[in-house]
Amino acid sequence: MVRVTPTDRRAALRTGAGLLAAGALSAGCATHGAVAHPAPSAHPASTEPPDSTAPAPKGAPAPRRYPGQPVQLTHGPRTRPRVALTFHGQGDPAIAHSLLTEAEKHGAHLTVLAVGTWLDEHPDIARRILDGGHDLGNHTQRHLAVNTMSQADARAEITACADRLKRLTGSIGTWFRPSRAPQASPLVARLAAAAGYPHVLSYDVDSLDYTRPGAAAIVRKVAAEVRDGSVVSMHFGYPDTVLALPAVLEELTRRGLTAVTTTELFS
Ligand SMILES: [Zn+2]
Repeated sequence: MVRVTPTDRRAALRTGAGLLAAGALSAGCATHGAVAHPAPSAHPASTEPPDSTAPAPKGAPAPRRYPGQPVQLTHGPRTRPRVALTFHGQGDPAIAHSLLTEAEKHGAHLTVLAVGTWLDEHPDIARRILDGGHDLGNHTQRHLAVNTMSQADARAEITACADRLKRLTGSIGTWFRPSRAPQASPLVARLAAAAGYPHVLSYDVDSLDYTRPGAAAIVRKVAAEVRDGSVVSMHFGYPDTVLALPAVLEELTRRGLTAVTTTELFS
């Protein structure tokens, strides 16, 4: 089921995902914090006056509250053969485009949790994601360890990314996922709610693609753990993920599972 040739691998690696500093690997894509990000002060979104001359972007979907669901969502209903593939949104935009296009070829829809600095660097990607029928959400402004921050700093990380999403799409995005942790602390969950996100999107399957284990290992990990209602954590920015996605989607199809947006998963 996994068809990854050495030639494919070399080709994918040539697309360049940017080297991350080696560091301790842990759940919640912790390694990404090793990448230097530009300071957000260059774009103080929350202090900019609204531009009344620019047409308001057509409003993308807003976050929703799902009655009966916990604040922190790790998976959807176990009664329907649907899963959500959710992506850390950062890294080489060519990789992001490849993954989006591959998903669309398979009739699949993804959920992208975008890092605010990534949106600053590649503002067109927000519309590309939405135009493909995918979900777009907030993964903090700089992808730092948001659970360990002071209340003011954590709030700023959440609202700065929300402001960028709002400016680019007319909506703060449908989901919030904390950075460098699979679950939000109680404080961060409260701050996210105050910023307009009633739920925090966690996951029950970690593909571990950010550890660069090779495409075959990514497919095996997802295939072994995914089931009805699963929310799978994956990452833009890694060539292994580009190589793995077709086989992941084929495996889902073989098992009668449909990859839907997280909004669809809970609707
Ligand atoms: Zn992440």
